[in-house]
Amino acid sequence: MSNWKDQQVLIVGGGIGGLAAALALARKGIPSQVIEQAPEFKEIGAGIQLGLNVFWMFEILGLIEPINALAVFPNNLIMMDSISGEEVTRISLGDAFRKKFHYSYALIHRADLHKVLLKACEDSGRVKLDASQKVVKVDQSGGGVTVRTESGREYRGAALIGADGLWSTIREIVVGDGKPRVAGHITYRAVLPTSEMPEKFRWNDMVLWAGEKVHLVHYPLRTGELFNLVAVFHSDRYEEGWDSYGDPAELHERFAKTCEPVRTLLNKIESWRMWVLCDRPPIKDWSKGRITLLGDAAHPMLQYLAQGANMSIEDGVCLANKVVEANGDYSAAFLAYQKARYLRTGRVQITARVYGEFFHASGVAKELRNLMLSSRSQDDAMAGMDWLYSKQPELMPREAAQVA
Ligand SMILES: Cc1cc2nc3c(=O)[nH]c(=O)nc-3n(C[C@H](O)[C@H](O)[C@H](O)COP(=O)(O)OP(=O)(O)OC[C@H]3O[C@@H](n4cnc5c(N)ncnc54)[C@H](O)[C@@H]3O)c2cc1C
Repeated sequence: MSNWKDQQVLIVGGGIGGLAAALALARKGIPSQVIEQAPEFKEIGAGIQLGLNVFWMFEILGLIEPINALAVFPNNLIMMDSISGEEVTRISLGDAFRKKFHYSYALIHRADLHKVLLKACEDSGRVKLDASQKVVKVDQSGGGVTVRTESGREYRGAALIGADGLWSTIREIVVGDGKPRVAGHITYRAVLPTSEMPEKFRWNDMVLWAGEKVHLVHYPLRTGELFNLVAVFHSDRYEEGWDSYGDPAELHERFAKTCEPVRTLLNKIESWRMWVLCDRPPIKDWSKGRITLLGDAAHPMLQYLAQGANMSIEDGVCLANKVVEANGDYSAAFLAYQKARYLRTGRVQITARVYGEFFHASGVAKELRNLMLSSRSQDDAMAGMDWLYSKQPELMPREAAQVA
C-alpha cells in the first residue's frame, strides 16, 4: 500500500527559503521537487546576519558544522552616531550572550549559506532540483497540485509551497493582494577584500552607523577575508527588482552630512549593487488548500532586523513538523503551519519598520534614541532580544525525531 510520504511536494523557488523547506521535508523522509526560474541554483548578493534563533533550526537540520566552518563570529553589536562619530551603544556577544541564547551570533556570505543548504538537499537523496523553469500556471485538483512552467513543462505533487520571494507568482494565486509596498528606502551593497578596508575599521563587530534618513552597516565575512558594506538612504526612486548597479553620486549626496569615517568608508567602494526595499503588512492567511507560501512570499519584511532569511528557515522547519503531525493531510498541515507562524513573522515585519525609523531618526527622536540605547544595561539589551532569539517551543518537532 502506498504511503503519503511516497508523493513529492512541489516547491517553487530555490532561494534560501525554498531549499530550507526542501531540506526540512527531506529530514522527515518526504521527497520534494524544487523548481527554480534562474539558470542555476545560486545566490547573488552579499552578507547575511544569522540571529541566534536560526541556529536552533540549523541544529534540527544538521547544519551547525558546515555553517560554523564558513561563518564569522563577531565580538559586539555596535551602534555609532554617523553625524557625531560617537559610539551610541555596544552589546557584547561574549559569554553572557552565549549563555543566555545558547549559540553565537554569526555573519555569513549569502552564497555560502545557500551552498550549504543546496549540498545538504543534494546529499539527502530526497530533493530533485530543476533550474531554468519559471512557474506560470498552477492547478489544484484531484487531491494534488499541478504546475506548468513557461517552457511548457508540467510537474505534479501532493502539495505546493510557494517560496518564490518578494514578487511571488504563487502569492498572487493564493492571496491576490497585488504588488508589495515600496518602502521609500534604497540599499546599496558592496563586498570588499579585507585588505582594501581601512585598517582602523577592520573591526570584528557588526557595526551600524545611524544617521538622518541614512545608515551604514559593515561587518566581516567569510572567516575574515571580506567585508560587507550596506548603505541605506531614503529615496523616491523606484525600480522593481534586485540587483542593478547603484549611482555612487546619489549615495555620496545622501551621506554628505555624515562624519569623516563614514564618508571614508563609502569612498572605498567604486561599484555598488542596488536594491529598492519593499515589504508588506502582515497577513494571517497565506494558504489555500494544498498550496501555501513561505519566506518572503508569505511575509516580506524590511532588512532592519536582519531576519528575512532566518524567518524563511524557521518557516521550513515549522512546515515540515506540521506536515508530519497532520500525517500527510496537507490542507490541515498548512493551516496549522500558518497559525504557528503569522504572529511571530508579523511581529518581525512590524518591528523591522520601527527599527528603520529608529536608525534614521533626527532631532528629538534621535536624541531620545541615543539616550535610551546608551543608558541600557547589557542585561536589558539581552532581555529585549529574548522574543526573537530564544528557542521557540512551537518550532521544535513534537514527535520523536525522524531524521532521514
Ligand atoms: C539588503 C538586504 C539585506 C538583508 N539582510 C538579511 C540578513 O542579514 N539576515 C536575514 O535573515 N535576512 C536578510 N535579508 C532578507 C533575505 O535576503 C530574504 O528575506 C531572503 O533571501 C528570502 O528568501 P526567500 O527564499 O523567501 O526568497 P528569495 O531569496 O527571493 O528566493 C525566491 C526564489 O524564487 C525564484 N522564483 C521566483 N519566481 C519564480 C517562479 N515563478 N518560478 C520559479 N522560480 C521562481 C527566484 O528566482 C528565487 O531564486 C536581507 C534582504 C535585503 C534586501
